[in-house]
Amino acid sequence: MKLVQRPSPIAANVSFEVDGVQHGHLRLPYSRDDSAWGSVMVPITVVKRGDGPTALLTGGNHGDEYEGPIALFDLARTLKAEDIQGRVIIVPAMNYPAFRAGTRTSPIDRGNMNRSFPGRPDGTVTEKIADYFQRILLPMADIVLDFHSGGRTLDFLPYAAAHALPDKEQERRCFEAVAAFAAPYSMRMVEIDAVGMYDTAAEEMGKVFVTTELSGGGTASAKTAGIAKRGVMNVLKHAGIVSGAPDRSRTRWLDMPSDDCFVFAQDDGLLEPYVDLGDPIRAGDVIARVHPIGRTGQAPAEYQAKLDGVLAARHFPGLVKMGDCLAVVATMEDAI
Ligand code: ZN
Repeated sequence: MKLVQRPSPIAANVSFEVDGVQHGHLRLPYSRDDSAWGSVMVPITVVKRGDGPTALLTGGNHGDEYEGPIALFDLARTLKAEDIQGRVIIVPAMNYPAFRAGTRTSPIDRGNMNRSFPGRPDGTVTEKIADYFQRILLPMADIVLDFHSGGRTLDFLPYAAAHALPDKEQERRCFEAVAAFAAPYSMRMVEIDAVGMYDTAAEEMGKVFVTTELSGGGTASAKTAGIAKRGVMNVLKHAGIVSGAPDRSRTRWLDMPSDDCFVFAQDDGLLEPYVDLGDPIRAGDVIARVHPIGRTGQAPAEYQAKLDGVLAARHFPGLVKMGDCLAVVATMEDAI
């Protein structure tokens, strides 16, 4: 029996085939109490000139991460068709309901966009958006840049990243694009849980895929917004869509060689950092203490690094819960 997939319920009011700049929306019908025939309207910009590669640029995959939306709303407003050869598809806030709510996941269905791929045309709102990317937008793309930051609960050294891939030629092209992004740090990234990720969907289609983690804490800074804006132009130049060479500055290469990178809280409590982002660390160093908060007179739990490296990420809020990711220790690599 042949499985016939339902068409996506999402309609774009932009054409992906017309030259010029178009600002529009992906309209997803969303019937609800305050709007019986209402819609979720996800902003999208398509800039196209002639033949050439297609870049798909996304932010707001998680709704409380801001460098990507800043860089992409800015790029959508300023990029002109005459600046490019090929096509640039910009979705500054992929999980738009989450972005509007300032939350990681969607307030409509609690959907985590980056755990919802390949999505479903007859699923939740988040799954329907994922399905549209999976079946409509990703197949058009040659190079995919998906911005992340730590959101409200994590903070990162600013880095662009790609994953180790079974296809080494594809992996090489991904890391070339990471190098072109030229963030202060570049990471060979390991995922805690890669199932359902947009990254995995793009990589399995053979795309050149670059992601980022550009600080966090549920806000952006002048420095990290600047890194995002420069990085996206660098990637477009690297792809040959915008002319000129990427503005490369020194990037320091980091690696996450194993699960030993991750340090998880074993109990609830009050977080006392012992090292800060970017600080050098030796295996066995205490990187954080967690104080019990139920009563006084209790010794704090000490958390130690399992390998040499630098502190690449940390839990951001002052209180931790059992099972939270407290820290990520990455190893320093020579430039590749
Ligand atoms: Zn994210």
